[in-house]
Amino acid sequence: MKETRLKIRNKFLKRYTQGFPLIIKDALHHIDPLKEEGQMIQLIDEKNKFIAKGYYGLQNKGIGWVLTLNEKEKINEAFFNKKIVKAIKNREAFYSNAHTTAFRVFNGEGDGIGGFTIDYFDGYYLINWYSEGIYAFKDYVMNALKKLPHCKGIYEKRRFDTSGKFIDEDSFVWGEEAPEPLVVKENDVNFAIYLNEGAMVGVFLDQREVRKKIREKYAKGKNVLNTFSYTGAFSIFAALGGAKKTTSVDLANRSLSKTIEHFSLNGIDYETQDIIVEDVFHYFKYAEKKNLKFDLVILDPPSFAKSKKFRFSAAKDYKDLLKSIINITEKDGTIVASTNCATFDMKKFKGFIDKAFHEMGKKYEIVEEYRLPKDFRTVKEFREGNYLKVVFIKVKK
Ligand code: SAH
Repeated sequence: MKETRLKIRNKFLKRYTQGFPLIIKDALHHIDPLKEEGQMIQLIDEKNKFIAKGYYGLQNKGIGWVLTLNEKEKINEAFFNKKIVKAIKNREAFYSNAHTTAFRVFNGEGDGIGGFTIDYFDGYYLINWYSEGIYAFKDYVMNALKKLPHCKGIYEKRRFDTSGKFIDEDSFVWGEEAPEPLVVKENDVNFAIYLNEGAMVGVFLDQREVRKKIREKYAKGKNVLNTFSYTGAFSIFAALGGAKKTTSVDLANRSLSKTIEHFSLNGIDYETQDIIVEDVFHYFKYAEKKNLKFDLVILDPPSFAKSKKFRFSAAKDYKDLLKSIINITEKDGTIVASTNCATFDMKKFKGFIDKAFHEMGKKYEIVEEYRLPKDFRTVKEFREGNYLKVVFIKVKK
């Protein structure tokens, strides 16, 4: 395949020679020769020396991904197959663990090819494509998966602009269709997965370790509030860990039936729990008025959200959100503060936490910290890739 040569600005040269995988516009003199997503790019220095090879694919964070620093390496089906086989080998412990049947198999740049991810759901593979450019290599990825002896079926989500908007289309692409729902296990807890629904299929796999810890150590006898609860995954683990009661709050109508389904799938009577469909910002006002307090509060909002009355951006509003939470947490209670926002790092996140407690005139102690689990592989050269930040905070007086 023909490679389009693009010159790197001197200032950025070192980052690329050291393995920074994302191709960003600002790092290049010009990108005029780029025409079609999926085309190959050769990054060169000011003296026309080869630095790296990659592809053109537009995502909000960059314009493509570096695939190799080796000029001779060919980017072809064998290249993709090799990376995928290696990624699978890296997850052998996951494949052989009967207690957990859903995990990430390929985590984009963390596994050597940015722009797509692959998740495993008990025999079925789900590919998320993040640019038109990487989608050009679809057959290579599909062929690698089809060869796997345990692969029953393949689903895909095209998470890039196809015709002006994300199309919620049927995402089944190969093999046998999965039952709806497909029930998978996470540390022996059942989750209902809907591979054919939109971009979110029922559970965020990257919170596995956090859920486990809540069940093991933080839930027993506690009155638990789960905000932005989605399908109630945290509530289920808390209830199974012996919580006195859980309260799940989410704005989306679907969250009610999905959370009921999750409780029922795990032998918990959902009528003993509270599931509330409401804007959390509204709920805070209600809780304050009724003087409700919780022992354990889980806060895992999306990076951006818009409701009728409120607009939320984690980077701007996390501190204030935390203040509302502190207000309804018991003394000696615990707040699990989480964010998947990639635009700020752990240090900044802890800064928000510190400021929130300071402004509320309260003391706190950080008792646990989590980042992405092992199956969500990241590379040290691309720290933004390690987006998940979870901090367990003990509220003092
Ligand atoms: N914490 C969840 C995942 C959250 S996904 C988990 O671990 O499973 C984000 C959720 O936030 C979505 O379900 C969405 O409906 C909900 N949401 C967005 N804005 C909201 C708001 N203002 N109030 C309540 N829920 C909101």
